[in-house]
Amino acid sequence: MNTKINIAIDGYSATGKSSTAKRVAKKLGYLYVDSGAMYRAVTFYLLENGVDIHDVAKVVEALPKIIIDFRYDHAEQRMHTFLNGEDVEDDIRQLHVSQWVSEVSAISEVRKVMVQQQQALGKNKGVVMDGRDIGTVVFPEAELKFFMTANYDIRTVRRKKELLEKGKEASEREILENLKKRDHIDSTREDSPLTKAADAIEIDTSNITLEDQVNLIYDYAMRKTNSI
Ligand code: C5P
Repeated sequence: MNTKINIAIDGYSATGKSSTAKRVAKKLGYLYVDSGAMYRAVTFYLLENGVDIHDVAKVVEALPKIIIDFRYDHAEQRMHTFLNGEDVEDDIRQLHVSQWVSEVSAISEVRKVMVQQQQALGKNKGVVMDGRDIGTVVFPEAELKFFMTANYDIRTVRRKKELLEKGKEASEREILENLKKRDHIDSTREDSPLTKAADAIEIDTSNITLEDQVNLIYDYAMRKTNSI
C-alpha cells in the first residue's frame, strides 16, 4: 500500500473521535493530529497569561507567541501536546479549559492560524485528523470523511471516565452541561460551524465498541487506498 490518503473525523465532543482516530492512525502507520488539542492549547495559554478571551485584539496580539507542536511519548506510546516547548497534554484537558475553549475557537483569527498549521501537517497525506471542521474546511478534499455522533448519556459517562483516568474529578451534571454548551457554540458559530460534510459517512458510536469503530474506518481506508 503506497498511496496515502487523508482521513477527516469530525463530530461532537466525547463521541470517541480521538480514541478512534489515534488507533486508526497507528494501524495505518499514519500521523494522528488532534486538532481540538490545538484550540485547547491556545485557550490554556490565554487563561494562564491573563489574556481576556473576549478582547479579540488582545487574543490576536497573543497568537504569534503561541507555538504548538506534537511529540510522541515512546514510554506512554501516545502523542503529547507541547505549548512553547512545554508538555501541556494534561493541562489542556482540564474542565476549566473545556469551559472556555469553544469561545476561543469561535474567533476567526484563531481559526485562520490553526487551519493553516493543520493544512501544512496534511499536505503530504497520510494523516488522520479529528475535530469539528476537518472535512468541511481543513481538508475539504480528504479522501475519507467521517462524522461521529453518540447520545448524551454515553458521552457523559465516557468523558467522566476519561477525566478520572487522568486523576481529575467532575460531576456528571458539570460534564453534561459542558458538552451541551460546547455543542451549541460549536454548531452555531459563524465561522466553520460543526456540520457534517455532504460526503461524510456518519457513525453513531452509542452502541458500538471502540474496536468496531476502529475496524470500520480501517476497512474503509484499506478499500479506498486499494482503489486509488
Ligand atoms: O476535540 P475537543 O473536544 O478536544 O475540542 C475542544 C474544542 O475545540 C471544541 O469544543 C471546539 O470548540 C474546538 N474545536 C474546533 N475545531 C476543531 C477542533 C476543535 O473549533 N477542528
